[in-house]
Amino acid sequence: MEDASTLTPSPEGELAGCIAASSPGQALEAEARLYRLLAPRVRRYGLRHLRDADAASDLMQHVMVLVIERLRSGDVREPQRIVSFVLGACRMTVLEMRSRQARREALLEQHGELLAIADIAVEPRHDHERVAACLERLSERERSVILMSFYEERPAEDVAGTLGLSPGNVRVIRPPRHRAAARLRRRGEERGMSAHLEFDGLLAYWLGETDEASTSAIDEHLLGCDACGAQLDELIALARGVREALAAGLIGAFVAPAFVAALAQRGAKVREYRVPPGASVACGVAPGDDVLVARYPARLEGLQRVDAVVQTSLDAAERRLEDIPFDAASGEVVWLARLALVRTLPAHRIHVRLLAGERVIGRYTLDHSV
Ligand SMILES: [Zn+2]
Repeated sequence: MEDASTLTPSPEGELAGCIAASSPGQALEAEARLYRLLAPRVRRYGLRHLRDADAASDLMQHVMVLVIERLRSGDVREPQRIVSFVLGACRMTVLEMRSRQARREALLEQHGELLAIADIAVEPRHDHERVAACLERLSERERSVILMSFYEERPAEDVAGTLGLSPGNVRVIRPPRHRAAARLRRRGEERGMSAHLEFDGLLAYWLGETDEASTSAIDEHLLGCDACGAQLDELIALARGVREALAAGLIGAFVAPAFVAALAQRGAKVREYRVPPGASVACGVAPGDDVLVARYPARLEGLQRVDAVVQTSLDAAERRLEDIPFDAASGEVVWLARLALVRTLPAHRIHVRLLAGERVIGRYTLDHSV
């Protein structure tokens, strides 16, 4: 990754130079242009390092006020290297924000007048119904990996650990075959510019998998590059689409027990049924439920692959779900139901068989009432 700002004059550098060369307050147009250029990039930095939209907006406002003030007062020694200055300001501010909330608020108050130019572009959004439809077309394993990676923005190591996969396996599965993501990958490939960030690298960065040195290099690149910033925005929007689709009850997937615990910890009202093998359990949903989970205990040690055969009394057809993800150590298969669909169904009975090859390792029955 080369820092273009040291080679050729960048638009940011030129604007910064113009502000630094003018009397304070005499380069308002350059200030507004610099703000619009850098503010969205600083916000992305905040989203990645603070993981909170409000905090990221605060960071953006504080850093941009600081940058413009320092340029006005001539305190930026090399205005043409403004991106490096901004990176330093971002790092300092994140540290400060983590330790001193009160100071941040005071600064914002003090510089309220500059915030009026904060009309930056809105990030793209993915319709969560479309995200859900795309996830539905994936294999059971792919859907679980993407749901669990994006929902909590968890590194491959974590997701792998709870699904009995290797981290490498998770990374192979993970790049979403979602149409928008596929388009992104193509776009990146067409650009073919090694100076830009790879999609996979950006994804690893967003999920917190990159080491300190690469994180720092990517931070700096993103503060100077809108093309890669737009890719990151798409990724962030996709992650949000996954969370919204889940919240809307549109995703059905096998998940790790730890994932259900994390949902509950985030405040989701989880209704769950543990179905002992050979038994029949009555189930239903209440209006306030956010998540519906069925737990199927089974002896899973040593198994490489498990299939699930599902049949409901609503239609006679059996559906075989191949190679479902599971955490062998937990001794159970956990199914997260598509709640929005379940709510529309009349009373019915669900039969589930777990198979290792053709050997039945568990039979379960749920009697769903409305
Ligand atoms: Zn780039």
